[in-house]
Amino acid sequence: MPSTSQVKPTIWSSRIANIGVSEILQIGAHAAQLKSQGLPVITLGAGEPDFDTPKNIKLAAKQAIDRGDTKYTSLDGTKELKQAIRSKFERDNGLEYELDEITVSSGAKQILFNAFMATLDEGDEVIIPAPFWTSYIDIVTICGGVPVIVECSMENGFLLTPDNLSAAITARTKWVLFNSPSNPSGAAYSINTYRPLLELLLTHPNILILSDDIYEHLVYDDVQFTTPAAIEPRLKERILTCNGVSKAYAMTGWRIGYAGGPKDLIRAMAIVQSQSTSCPSSISQAAACEALAGTQDFLETNLANFDERRRLVVDGLNKMEGIACPTPLGAFYVFANCSGVLGKKTPGGKTLETDKDFCTHLLETAYIAIVPGTVFGLSPFFRVSFAASEAELREAIARIAKAVKELS
Ligand code: PLP
Repeated sequence: MPSTSQVKPTIWSSRIANIGVSEILQIGAHAAQLKSQGLPVITLGAGEPDFDTPKNIKLAAKQAIDRGDTKYTSLDGTKELKQAIRSKFERDNGLEYELDEITVSSGAKQILFNAFMATLDEGDEVIIPAPFWTSYIDIVTICGGVPVIVECSMENGFLLTPDNLSAAITARTKWVLFNSPSNPSGAAYSINTYRPLLELLLTHPNILILSDDIYEHLVYDDVQFTTPAAIEPRLKERILTCNGVSKAYAMTGWRIGYAGGPKDLIRAMAIVQSQSTSCPSSISQAAACEALAGTQDFLETNLANFDERRRLVVDGLNKMEGIACPTPLGAFYVFANCSGVLGKKTPGGKTLETDKDFCTHLLETAYIAIVPGTVFGLSPFFRVSFAASEAELREAIARIAKAVKELS
């Protein structure tokens, strides 16, 4: 499913021709253009914490430079970082991986790319629950796979059900992908909601399972993060447990992601990496080592901050007529339903037909950049990232409320 329509230069390969420039980036560009005209734009589309990387992590990177750790490292991660990852999996998830069952890449995104490139043959299917992080679709497509999208309703907490999953499985299904907590919905599986899905997957021995746990440390209230390999050890040999330091440690620019999984898969992923980036940045690996093995105090402060912002946004949106905003259990996004404003007219006389119309209207008249649900495979919704300052969020909520009130 291409993200956008655009003019495709004739030199482009067919592999890339169906891949769009991310619609989120396009919204960002539109917002930047309005900003450059001096308009007071607030962008709530970001997928990254607004906090700085903690000092101890930066220091570890500086020390790595001074030590001369500035050369290629072993292909898919230094021994030190793999050891830190092994300990992290044990400490946080109760999972045991040998060092050759662990891989490190330049971001969780490259982990996904390596995994799909290493395993998908043309036409192999990957089941992706919607709403989804948009890159899943494009990465699978670039790698020759076919994304099979399964819509997960708001009424069911945006979670996959065993019936939905069962109906989507075919002889070509190669992977099922889970992302909990989810970008964009903030939905999170519990042991109880995962178990029937994993039991079903036990009866399909050829299917691999990818669990994207990148928002693991951002769970609210009484939610206990859990991951499929820890719940169902009989599936561990078919599960790739993906994670990274970007979101938890405010390290999006450092580009370190990692995964634990079966040896054969990890080896195949290393082959892909060996011919693309050779290895992740040596300095970033030293920083990630400190992030995972050093003090974890940052996580708690970070979470408390996000939690306050989450409440502010959920409460604010739910006060607006026509908007219904479920409380996200994790990550730093809300995914709100806007069906109640569709069909209404803007003060300029335009009827809002879709979530995209609504978001465009907010950008052009209230100068708030948010992302329509259509981008994530489920409409009519919109995603608000609350990885922004409290002042910005308050102002944004006030402007959205005013714009919604003015609809007739
Ligand atoms: N997985 C999900 C669900 C994400 O939202 C993102 C980033 O937005 C990633 C993976 C990629 O993270 P990284 O920065 O480690 O590549």
